[in-house]
Amino acid sequence: MSKRDYYEILGVPRDADEQTIKRAYRKLAMKYHPDRNPNDEEAAEKFREATEAYEVLSDKEKRARYDQFGHAGVDEQMHDFWGRGGFQESHAFKDFGDIFGDVFGDLFGFGSAGGASNRGSDLRYTLSLSLEEAAHGKEVELRIPRHASCDACGGSGARAGTHPVPCSTCGGHGQVQISQGFFSVRRTCPACQGSGRRIESPCPRCGGSGRVRVEKKVRVKIPAGVYDGAQVRVPGEGEAGLHGGPNGDLYINISLKPHPIFERDGADLHCVMPITFPQAALGAEVEAPTLEGKVKVRIPPGTQGGRIFRLRGYGVPDVRTQQKGDLYVKVQIAVPTKLSARQEQLLREFANATGDDVYPERSSFLDKVKKFWDDLAGE
Ligand SMILES: [Zn+2]
Ligand SMILES: [Zn+2]
Repeated sequence: MSKRDYYEILGVPRDADEQTIKRAYRKLAMKYHPDRNPNDEEAAEKFREATEAYEVLSDKEKRARYDQFGHAGVDEQMHDFWGRGGFQESHAFKDFGDIFGDVFGDLFGFGSAGGASNRGSDLRYTLSLSLEEAAHGKEVELRIPRHASCDACGGSGARAGTHPVPCSTCGGHGQVQISQGFFSVRRTCPACQGSGRRIESPCPRCGGSGRVRVEKKVRVKIPAGVYDGAQVRVPGEGEAGLHGGPNGDLYINISLKPHPIFERDGADLHCVMPITFPQAALGAEVEAPTLEGKVKVRIPPGTQGGRIFRLRGYGVPDVRTQQKGDLYVKVQIAVPTKLSARQEQLLREFANATGDDVYPERSSFLDKVKKFWDDLAGE
């Protein structure tokens, strides 16, 4: 479920100037605007996509972030743009108003668009996943509270056996023409709020709205490798459209819980694994934790603290290519504490029996320090 490139969506080169971007968006928005394409979900999606692309590319700061980091750089902000957190009806169409004012304001009084759109609102859902779930992918069943088409009236809002009649104010068009200087401007019909219909005998179950509040179960497959802040779109699972209009979409925002052992960096994982001083000195075979279970790692004799062992293919799959990253295990030398008298004695004997020569790393450091002091004194 990768997102298309914003430049590709608008059909402009990467170095396009503001005017070119604006012109390209205006063309697409005119073509795919929901008012011009009623009940056309594909057009609605194209419109949404183009608007999102324009929202980013028309903003210097967002565009710079997008150029540098791709969708990951602006998804958090688009998340804000489309609405944030838990369940929430989208205000996307209200936000479009601002963009329209900007893009169309100078052309004609298009104003705040979408008044007559019967498309259902988009819904947001924040899904919290563990690292394991994100790494392996998961099929989840979400219970989404939302409006659905009323069964009793089939979504018409009219009592069973009756039918809505055309609105007399707008003649059923849902819009009225208002002349404004040179231009003739269309406005949502105030009598029917754009539905074009009047219900004489409302359906008792939905009160004439044609929609009822239900909790719907939606099964969604979350792809393996999904990252924190990613957005999974489930088309048509948002709010039901009004008066038979298309459904909105469901957007699932992924939030990853921190893991007690692993830190994630793209497709790679990192962890710090303490080993004992004797294991480091003598060499050992130890078990490293991975998302796939325990994996044996051979610690060679004389391993220094901070050494990193790379376990190929034990990372997380890339969400697009499904190619797995690696796990980097950094060893840390654990220093014994709470020694018994006998243990302490042995350690003292060991210390007395050894000089700096058994610590090549330390000797080399001391040599460098000595040279440093000598050089300073020589100047
Ligand atoms: Zn009804
Ligand atoms: Zn009307």
